[in-house]
Parts: sequence; C-alpha cells; structure tokens
Amino acid sequence: MAAGQLSILTGKLSLRPLQAPARGGLAAAVMFGIANLTLCGPAVATAADPAPPAPLWRAGVAAVRITPDNPLPMAGYDARTEPAEGTEQNLYAKALVLEDAAGGRTLWITLDLIGATAGLRETVANRVTETMGIPASALLMNASHTHCGPDYDHAAAADYRAFLETTLVELAGRAVATLAPAELAFGTARASVAMNRRTPTSMGYINHPNPAGPVDHAVPVLSVRNADATLRAVVFGYACHNTTMAFRRWLGDYAGYAQEYLEADHAGTTALFMMGCAGDQNPYPRRQLAYAQRHGRTLATAVEAAIEADQDPSRHQRPVTGLVRAAFERVDLPFADTARRPHPYPVQVIRLGDDILLVALGMETTVDYALRIKAEFTVANGPAVWVAGYSNDYPGYIPSRRVLLEGGYEAEQTGPAEQTGPWDPGIEEKIMATVRKLVERTRPELSR
Ligand SMILES: [Zn+2]
Repeated sequence: MAAGQLSILTGKLSLRPLQAPARGGLAAAVMFGIANLTLCGPAVATAADPAPPAPLWRAGVAAVRITPDNPLPMAGYDARTEPAEGTEQNLYAKALVLEDAAGGRTLWITLDLIGATAGLRETVANRVTETMGIPASALLMNASHTHCGPDYDHAAAADYRAFLETTLVELAGRAVATLAPAELAFGTARASVAMNRRTPTSMGYINHPNPAGPVDHAVPVLSVRNADATLRAVVFGYACHNTTMAFRRWLGDYAGYAQEYLEADHAGTTALFMMGCAGDQNPYPRRQLAYAQRHGRTLATAVEAAIEADQDPSRHQRPVTGLVRAAFERVDLPFADTARRPHPYPVQVIRLGDDILLVALGMETTVDYALRIKAEFTVANGPAVWVAGYSNDYPGYIPSRRVLLEGGYEAEQTGPAEQTGPWDPGIEEKIMATVRKLVERTRPELSR
C-alpha cells in the first residue's frame, strides 16, 4: 500500500513547493533529510539514488494526567455543591500536533474537563503561538464535558487553574518535540449511545429522553499512523453529554472509558476525544458506573469499526493529503435582552488538505448545528465534514433557532455567567454565516 500511495503523493508534492510559504521550509528540508536516512537505512546514499518520497505529514502526540490532587469543587451540576471525594478514573489532557509538508501546523488539545473556557484558550494560545510556530487560528481546544471534573474557574481552584495553564503549554511542547513522519486517514462509524433529551409535554419541553428527537450518531475518526503503519493516535468525535454519572469522584465518564479502552487495546496509541454538538443529547441509561463503562465500550468499538481494526484489506480509509489551513473568528451574538453586550463567539474551521473539513464551534451547541453544517458543506468528492462543539469557549448553551423558539432548558437557561442566554433567535444565522465565510477562506485553491 505504501509504495503506490507514496508515488502518488510524490507527484502531488512536486506541484506544491511554489505555493509553500517560507516558514517551515528549512524544517521541512531537514525533515526530508531525516526521512531519507530512515528510509535508506544505514547505507550511505549515492548520487545515483532516486530522491526518496517525502512524508506528507509529521505528527506529534502527548498526554498528561490532570486529575486534581485536592478535593476541589466539581463542575457541571449546580445542585452538587460538595467537593470531590476521590478518584474513580484519572483525567487527562492530550495534544496532537500535525505538520504538513510545507511546515504548516495545527494543534489540537483535548481535555477531560467540563469545558475549554475562552480565558484558558487565550492563555494557552498566547504561549503556544509565541514559541511553537502555531498560529492561534490553528489551535483547537475541545473539552469532553465530563461532569465529574473540577470547576477550574472556581475561586477555590486558583492553584489548579495555574497548574492547568502551565501543564497544557508543556503538553503542547512535548507534542511538538515528538514530531515524526506520519500517515493520516479518515474513517467514520456510528454509535447509538446518545438520545435526544428534549421531550415535548403539555408543560412545554422537559429534560427527558426522547427517542424521536434529532441525534447525530456519527463517529468521525482521524487515525495517525507511524511510518511503519503502526497506530500512533486516534482522534474520535461524538455528540453526547458526558453525563452518565453525577457522583463526587473524578471521572472521565463514557468518553474517558472510550479513550481508556482504545489505549489499552491498541498498545502505543493515544486516543483523543472530540466532543460534538451535544447540547441536547444525553447518554441513556445513566447513573450507574457500569453504564458509563458500557457506553465507553460501545463508542470504542465504533472507533475500531471506523479504523477497520483487524480488517484486511481496509476499504473505507480515506488518506488525508495536502496542507493545513485554519481560520478563526469571533462573531458577536446578541442576547434577547438588547441592553446586554453581545457575546464574542468563536468559530473555527480547520482543513486538512481537501480531505477533512473540521468546523469547531464554541460552547454547548445543540445537535441541529452539526446536522445543518454537515448537510450544507458535504459535497460529492469534497472533504469529510466533521463538526465539533465545546471548543474554545465555555460556558453557556447555544440553541438552534428551532430549540430557541420551542423553549425548554437549553433555550432558557440563565445563570450568573455573562454568556448564558436567553439569546436572540438570529444567532443561528450569524453562526452559519461565519462558518460559511471561514469555509471559503480556507479553500485549498486559495493560498494560506
Ligand atoms: Zn452541558
């Protein structure tokens, strides 16, 4: 497989250098040299040797335990005011950095935490862009939304917050330090862990499982393989609140178990979870640890289906080629109360060549956003469209127009945080217009 693929890729690469920016050129040249030595083995290369194929990608991966050592306040349920009592499962932050053949980079940080606040993102972005050649537009921070993690914005968690900032920057640095030739592929599967949680009643919409409501059961998976084809990392998405449990122990919940099982069953692999548009989606059944584990196993099995584990030949892996393009913009979202200052809402689009179009939305977007974006931007022979929520900003629900007009918890939630609703019903169109603009800005035919 590798030989045929590489010859195609080499042909493709020969068209690229003119549009490649100077930045990273030297690194890429050094990188190709290293690849040359690796591919040719210990023998000394001669002038007669054909030029070795250059790797399309380099990837770096790192993980770090971020379980609090102290009984901090927990995030997610207002009614649970007592601090954590202990650890059921460790929490992790993980980083994947991808570098294209022209030296362009994107960094994805996934967190077993309630959210990735705008403040945390800004701190990490400032330090990462200064030192690692990664533009802020290409930094994606996504949280699993576990409700059994720390409330790191709480006054009692100031030390933990400082630890988190330092640790995430170190984590990114470690990922960059491990950059090595890689092959990327995209695959997808489905899992039915999530159920819509908005049920219409004579009293309006209540928070209750609704098997007839809209869901997004897709499991998009980016696999990262070493030059020898061994699996190095998988990034997988799913749209479902990470709320099987509500007890007072640290836990990654179903997303934590899915990552744990994948890493246990595929030695040497780092599994990173990317939360989707799960604002109105819950895992059912809930409230027993065994259910969190079963949901995790279900999702891990779907990931294995997506990567066609133990299947030979694999027929549904889409090789990912080309350059990284990223765009990030904040759009002002108005509240229903026009006296309030609009919220600067982050929208991000990251393309990997013309094979993956990743749209990352801030805060708790309801599932309509993912379904609409995938319907609008999925075109024949176009990139696979992947929609993440819970990215680069938290807290607050972002209901679709439909959900806003229907009412219910996700539409009406108010709270002490400035960015919680209720919103103006026009926010969906403002978000979509921004997505459209960034999708255009990242088209492969345009220069980066
Ligand atoms: Zn939530």
